[in-house]
Amino acid sequence: MGKKQRIVLASGNAHKIREISQMLPEFEVVGYKELGFTDEIVEDGKTFYENALIKAKTVSEKLNLPALSDDSGICVDALGGEPGIYSARYAGDGDDKHNNALLLKNMEGVENRKAKFVCCMVLYKPNGEIITATGETLGEIMHEEHGENGFGYDPLFFSYDLNECLGIAPAEKKNKISHRFRAIEALKDKLK
Ligand code: IMP
Repeated sequence: MGKKQRIVLASGNAHKIREISQMLPEFEVVGYKELGFTDEIVEDGKTFYENALIKAKTVSEKLNLPALSDDSGICVDALGGEPGIYSARYAGDGDDKHNNALLLKNMEGVENRKAKFVCCMVLYKPNGEIITATGETLGEIMHEEHGENGFGYDPLFFSYDLNECLGIAPAEKKNKISHRFRAIEALKDKLK
């Protein structure tokens, strides 16, 4: 068997590195910290794609390797797509509990609770080639938190695919319908 091609993931999140390497078994996926990348990347893009591109391009150019990055978040119809790219720091301090409390407050009395998780993946190659794909998963914002599974907004998200809250669904179920899984699948199709 030939040596697997190495892809560096523009993320230091061990959970993400494991999840994405499982989804891309044909590649050797390595986190950027493992390769000595310590620069801070300013994500000042206006879209998921722009932020994913900034991360992948910066890391690829520095390490001279193909770099993969993702940017994701939750978009709520009644809030005009917010928090969107600001999902991680919606309440200002990056704390999931505070983000969820603010979302519930902003949804008080709102009838249309439709929302989606979005994930944009970018693979940037040292020759400047860009391969990108987006995945989405649909659902709605519940009236209170349910369950302890997942992370972020999962305890507030009722998934239409699973007919249950992502805070209750086990990881194996979530990972078959998630925005990240769908983005990776779409990216793999483009890599074939
Ligand atoms: P990032 O792509 O790691 O920057 O994630 C952005 C933010 O979106 C996270 O901090 C979460 O608040 C939210 N988010 C992204 N994916 C998920 C998910 O699968 N479940 C719950 N929240 C998510």
